[in-house]
Amino acid sequence: MNRIRLLPEHVANQIAAGEVIERPASVVKELVENSLDAGAGRVTVEIQAGGRSLIRITDDGWGMGRDDALLCLERHATSKIRRAEDLAAIATMGFRGEALPSIASVSRFVLTTREREGNTLEGTRVVINGGKIVEVKAAGSAPGTTIDVRQLFFNLPARRKFLRTEETESAHIQHYLTLAALSFPEVAMTFQKDGRLVWQLPGVKLSSDPGSRPAALRERLRALYPADQKLVPVNLSAGLSTPPDLQASSDGVLDSEFAANSALPVEAPVPSIRIWGFIGAPGISRATREDQHVFVNRRPVENRGLNFALLEGYHTALMKGRYPVCCLFVEIDPAAVDVNIHPAKREVRFHRESEVRKFVAEAIRRALLEYHSPQPAVHSPQSTGVGLPPATQSPERAEAGHVHQPALPHLPAGLQPETNVPLSPKPAQAPLGLGFGPGRPPLVEPTTPTGMAPLAGSRDSQTVPSAPALTQAPAAGSAPVPLLNVPLRLVGVIGKLYVVLESDRGLVLLDQHAAHERILFEQMLNRLEHHQQAPSQKLLLPETVELSARDANFAREQITVLTRLGVGLSEFGERTFLLDALPPFVKVTDSRRFVIELIDELKAAGQEVNTLRLGELTVAKTVCRHAVKANDPLAGAELEKLVTDLRHCAMPYTCPHGRPTLIEMNFRELEKKFGRSQ
Ligand code: ADP
Ligand code: MG
Repeated sequence: MNRIRLLPEHVANQIAAGEVIERPASVVKELVENSLDAGAGRVTVEIQAGGRSLIRITDDGWGMGRDDALLCLERHATSKIRRAEDLAAIATMGFRGEALPSIASVSRFVLTTREREGNTLEGTRVVINGGKIVEVKAAGSAPGTTIDVRQLFFNLPARRKFLRTEETESAHIQHYLTLAALSFPEVAMTFQKDGRLVWQLPGVKLSSDPGSRPAALRERLRALYPADQKLVPVNLSAGLSTPPDLQASSDGVLDSEFAANSALPVEAPVPSIRIWGFIGAPGISRATREDQHVFVNRRPVENRGLNFALLEGYHTALMKGRYPVCCLFVEIDPAAVDVNIHPAKREVRFHRESEVRKFVAEAIRRALLEYHSPQPAVHSPQSTGVGLPPATQSPERAEAGHVHQPALPHLPAGLQPETNVPLSPKPAQAPLGLGFGPGRPPLVEPTTPTGMAPLAGSRDSQTVPSAPALTQAPAAGSAPVPLLNVPLRLVGVIGKLYVVLESDRGLVLLDQHAAHERILFEQMLNRLEHHQQAPSQKLLLPETVELSARDANFAREQITVLTRLGVGLSEFGERTFLLDALPPFVKVTDSRRFVIELIDELKAAGQEVNTLRLGELTVAKTVCRHAVKANDPLAGAELEKLVTDLRHCAMPYTCPHGRPTLIEMNFRELEKKFGRSQ
């Protein structure tokens, strides 16, 4: 008996639609991608009732002739690939030839198209209802393509029932359109919702200059997010020249092993990778990934590895449970990434996943470090070639054979912060000029020159010509000058905790304790890097701590790390430990709670992405939280030192847990609050 039957075409299309077309936003995505693939310079999107009653996309792309207009509605009909091999190097948004027949099978669909280059003024109109062609006729139309999708899922009541409210569906549509607008700033985009104009984004002119894409993106970002957030430019390129079989070390970021290996000659052609875009300055984050936009070869993607890479790159500049704000473009040889792993093409798979991840984390890390200490040489996109710049280990560490990386790992020599950051301002540096009193000192030079001046310049700042900070050209065109690179004047302290400062730009508040934590954290890790041992002080009264069997086991494994970080913990019995030393700046009132907190943090860290160096970082972070609370009022000189020390940090804008150390309210914001401006 024959049981098996070939499904009719329209049923097959509906099944495909089940995967590709989840909701109105999927329709918008597929159709806008087609417009972009068709070389459109302008795309208009109109929706009604969250896309349930109407989605209309109009473009001025190259359009289709009559034959193509019919053929494009067949399954697996595409102009974008021809052979299976083409799948390995996809340069268009679409390639599956599934979208149009799928959408047409679950809606009332009208395609009107006219070839841009054609020699007739007549176009073609195809009307389809639930997958059945109703009408094909000649129709007058402007060059380009318009597709109307009405009553999505009208013939699949079950699917229609699953649609959410109009607001939710249009939010999904708007989210996708934001991504498309960011990825294609050169394309003018209009978005209308229920007859109301939401956006009218002009196309941004692109030149052949490599800097024009970031500039165009910046302009689009401004158009989409009028409340200008502080953004840090990212730009790094390299050859992914590590042999593909090299397993990632358990260390989540680039380590010396990677750097060394990347210099090995390899026979296969070296795929190159570039990452560029903008990320929120340290301290800027969101509770969701909503403003985390990542594109691979212009395609918005979700990729767990890239998500981890971002968190790794931000490291201590991001609070736990918070997500970066970013718009990043990864450009990689199309042959090195598989885009055909998800029906809606939302996910991609990198052939060299761990290297891409390391590269991205490294790019973020450098961008954040450079934000504070601009170092053009490292940031240049010309840094192509054999992997990433090598020699990221200090000689001492290389000698000792340590592979883990402390807080500020793999800093190229130029970016390496001072060793053992001195507690007093360096003699060569201009004094901060903080102080109370009626005769306020004039604003003075920052310790670190602003703008593009390399960090090295600050070491012999006497040779650096001094000019008022704010009149110097800011780094990277319109990038804002980091707060700690502008002169600050002390106004006072409130609540024994918040230091009030004034800059040329407005009001600055500094969280004394967060700043102190950051300074101690970096000092501790610098000490560790150069002396293999953070400072430690014997306790007058050692204390015993009793732990559960499991915690005791875990603690035993961690004793070496703890000792290196200045926490003297030793076995004193099966489940009893002796706490007999702590870093000098730490005061612990409840030893048991302190030890358990350390253990818990270490355990939690162990489940996260990067490991090796994490143990030390976690201990250092936790220990710094127990630094003597800086609630006793600090006097002028001490505050001056605090700000100077903070200026010397590599990542001064957040405490080691990612909380901001400084908050700025510029005059514009103040004026707004006081109703002086709109
Ligand atoms: P895919 O994009 O994967 O090729 P689609 O079903 O989305 O598959 O589209 C099928 C074909 O129809 C495309 O390959 C393209 O040639 C043509 N097409 C679709 N939309 C447009 C458009 N807006 N302008 C010009 N051609 C289009
Ligand atoms: Mg398509």
